[in-house]
Amino acid sequence: MTAINRRTLIGGLAASTVAFSVRASTVTDTDVIIIGAGVAGISAARQLKAAGVRTIIFEARDRIGGRVLTDTQTLGRAFDRGPYWLHNKATNPLVPLAREAGIGLVESSFENANIFNQGAPINNPSWKDAKEAFVAWEMRQLLPFARINDRALGATLPNPTPAQRHVANIFAVEMGEDPSLVSLQGYYNLEAGEDLIPTGGMGPLILGLANGLEVRLSSPVSTLRWDGAHGVTAIGSFGQVTARKVIITVPTGVLASGAIRFDPALPSDKQTALSNLPMGALEKVAMVLPAPMPDLPEYALSNSHIQQGQYHALFVDPSKQMITALIPGPVSRALHGEGAAALEAFAMDLLKNVIGSQVRVQALSSTNWQGDPLALGSYPHQTVGHANARKIYSQSVEDRLFFAGDGGDDSLAVTVGGAWRQGQKNAQIIARQLGAKRR
Ligand SMILES: Cc1cc2nc3c(=O)[nH]c(=O)nc-3n(C[C@H](O)[C@H](O)[C@H](O)COP(=O)(O)OP(=O)(O)OC[C@H]3O[C@@H](n4cnc5c(N)ncnc54)[C@H](O)[C@@H]3O)c2cc1C
Repeated sequence: MTAINRRTLIGGLAASTVAFSVRASTVTDTDVIIIGAGVAGISAARQLKAAGVRTIIFEARDRIGGRVLTDTQTLGRAFDRGPYWLHNKATNPLVPLAREAGIGLVESSFENANIFNQGAPINNPSWKDAKEAFVAWEMRQLLPFARINDRALGATLPNPTPAQRHVANIFAVEMGEDPSLVSLQGYYNLEAGEDLIPTGGMGPLILGLANGLEVRLSSPVSTLRWDGAHGVTAIGSFGQVTARKVIITVPTGVLASGAIRFDPALPSDKQTALSNLPMGALEKVAMVLPAPMPDLPEYALSNSHIQQGQYHALFVDPSKQMITALIPGPVSRALHGEGAAALEAFAMDLLKNVIGSQVRVQALSSTNWQGDPLALGSYPHQTVGHANARKIYSQSVEDRLFFAGDGGDDSLAVTVGGAWRQGQKNAQIIARQLGAKRR
């Protein structure tokens, strides 16, 4: 989830450690297998380690972090290819951890935005109109109706005015999907608040938190067997490893694609939940500008693109001489289909309409999350009518298979904060169960 969101707008307007000593089982290789060394896997492993529970993380990639990836090489400065913002600073569990680690945190607010056309800010609609349209939508559509019946987020703006199209743009960038495909209730259940950006990027924060954990890189799990009376067996190119329990943090879209074979198959309600937590699409194009940087707010929006449903946001970071285009949903999918050059050309087009056709870019780099088989997109949303999908996905199966990650039942879902909490929560439950069995 990115910073263009209800959390920042509304904010602007208005683990414990379980200490059990768990002895090694005589029949398993470890106590808990964790699949995936992203935020959720790291969080779960830290929690279990603190509780004295033996864990092994199997990670398919040759690196830790999953969708967290700070690239310092390509552009000679930190480019967060995945998450950038720590959302909802008041409750985000990674905020105190970043502070503890001495990582600087910079305030970020979508309040600092403006709408442009042909190189100049516009007054109709103004950003103030868009914010007012957002608050009006929230009062008239979200708060009264979201709990009563589920419908499409996009259906709440049936014939949008120009200002309301900016509201739809917020939905699209925030959810990485066309609002007509996203559950209103799912959206309603997400927390709102102010954001922070870790200086140096999200990568160093998450990598630092993985220190001392046992992670087996380049070790994809291809099959999970849980056919016996107890325990689970993970099978992959590494051989096979048995454990009492497993925590699966693989993105919901990847799980739904059948990338891991479950033997026996997952219960049908779990499979239905997974298929109703599809991955959205959000790609980034980072563009390095020559000095001096144009005088722009933190977020710049191209009105003509938004009026045509080409949703986006440009995030302006003068400290890096960089502007990053965030391109979500159907536009992102279409451009991805055409290749990186098309995505980058679209980002340049946005930039030209915001700054003026004379704008020059020194270097640029784009992401490819949709083409990444271990992500298959950006982050999951609930489909319309399936606002309970997160809840069902999060339930453990026979107290053996546990599911954590950013698709989990969490008011910070679809963010690193939610993934962290889900990893921690599942680990706490497991630590309690294993500890209780020993008494
Ligand atoms: C472009 C983009 C922008 C984003 N912006 C933000 C933001 O600003 N703020 C925010 O909070 N969130 C943001 N997010 C969302 C955030 O990145 C995720 O919510 C979070 O990183 C999810 O963590 P996770 O551990 O649940 O999943 P992941 O990070 O995906 O970790 C799962 C791991 O499982 C591994 N895996 C997959 N299959 C297998 C297998 N078979 N065997 C072993 N390992 C496997 C994967 O390689 C991966 O490392 C963004 C995401 C994207 C893509």
